[in-house]
Amino acid sequence: MFDFSIAPEIQDLIQRVRRFVDEVVIPAEAHAFDDPVEGLPRTVLDDLRAQAKCAGLFAPTMPPELGGLGLSITEFTPILEVVGRSLIGPMALGCAAPDEGNMHLLHVYANDTQRERYLAPLVRGDIFSAFGMTEPAPGAGSDPSMLKTTARRDGDGWVIDGHKWWTTNAGVADFLIIMARTDDDGGGATLFLSPMDAPGIEVVRRVPHMGGPDFGGHCEIKLNGLRLTDDDILGGVGRGFALVQARLGPARLTHCMRWTGIAQRALEVATDYASRREAFGSALGGHQAVQWMLADSAVELHAGRLMIQHCAWLLEKGEKARQETSMCKLHVSETVGRVLDRAIQICGGLGISRDIPLSHWYESARAFRIYDGASEVHRMVIARQVLKQFGGAKAE
Ligand SMILES: Cc1cc2nc3c(=O)[nH]c(=O)nc-3n(C[C@H](O)[C@H](O)[C@H](O)COP(=O)(O)OP(=O)(O)OC[C@H]3O[C@@H](n4cnc5c(N)ncnc54)[C@H](O)[C@@H]3O)c2cc1C
Repeated sequence: MFDFSIAPEIQDLIQRVRRFVDEVVIPAEAHAFDDPVEGLPRTVLDDLRAQAKCAGLFAPTMPPELGGLGLSITEFTPILEVVGRSLIGPMALGCAAPDEGNMHLLHVYANDTQRERYLAPLVRGDIFSAFGMTEPAPGAGSDPSMLKTTARRDGDGWVIDGHKWWTTNAGVADFLIIMARTDDDGGGATLFLSPMDAPGIEVVRRVPHMGGPDFGGHCEIKLNGLRLTDDDILGGVGRGFALVQARLGPARLTHCMRWTGIAQRALEVATDYASRREAFGSALGGHQAVQWMLADSAVELHAGRLMIQHCAWLLEKGEKARQETSMCKLHVSETVGRVLDRAIQICGGLGISRDIPLSHWYESARAFRIYDGASEVHRMVIARQVLKQFGGAKAE
């Protein structure tokens, strides 16, 4: 039975995380653009991480034997929202994308040697990771089956050639998970683990993008004759597409949790301004048009939270919840965009200015409607299921 109650120890943890984010992380946002390349300087991040570990709040999505907090997905759902109230919160507490999704993937599929080499230091926050699936056209984008990167058998090893881009974190990553088409499994794909400094991996550039600099960047990478072995394969030859789906379900949901945190904070910023700023004889919040914007944002955020909780509950029961996670990602990513847009509208010129962070959040959130499945692709997935359930006609 679905249960909305939150156990007292989780409520206590939420309060502790909230205090840490308010008192330690949000003040550090003043440094979020100090470094022209990374945005947040590494020294500031290291200090935040040390404090999070000291407070016993690091790696909330990982089990205790790896040094995490040992929470189930329904338990860490409200915690990731609170962490997400700051764009640097997830990095500070060891649950930012793509590391957090990669931790989950490795936790489920890595063998003992790979866990020791990659997963353990990743959960400790000693190293960073990147995930390379997307390629420039005509390669894999919205449609991963267009994957062009190849892994060719060569003796008892593999030679990998390809071109990736939008590989988040690759500017600082110590290892890369590479999705490549393998030639001895009937055209399937395989995930490989490689140290970033292996000969054959060339980080061409950090792709310039809207919003401020992101720590680790979003990189274009060339793979030129990268040599790997069978020991570097994650989860087995030919299992790439299945593993990517297994990674994306929970990773989409954790994105929704974190972005709900920023959207909630934007609603609070807008509400505060609307309560204090006067125009035409009353506070802005006294005008119905402003009230409706606040109400619509509150309603959409509430619906999003319920969708996230429902998906988390399904995943915890071991269900794939593909349709539900698509609905949730679609709803939450579009809600976040609308809530931020309304918050800027309510704050007027101040909202557009860089004096408060709304404009920066707005720019950063735009990509959420594209990565981990563009809204149109999620609508396609949802509609196919709807047509199957209720339609007489055949979906494509
Ligand atoms: C900030 C950011 C970080 C990212 N990080 C990573 C990462 O770490 N690793 C990684 O591998 N990838 C990453 N990506 C890539 C991301 O997953 C892709 O951008 C996404 O899958 C879309 O692929 P594409 O950009 O090639 O768009 P395309 O496939 O070229 O699609 C372009 C547009 O076409 C439309 N479209 C596509 N299919 C359909 C359809 N069936 N029906 C209607 N319209 C459709 C959508 O509007 C879509 O936005 C990142 C992207 C961004 C922006």
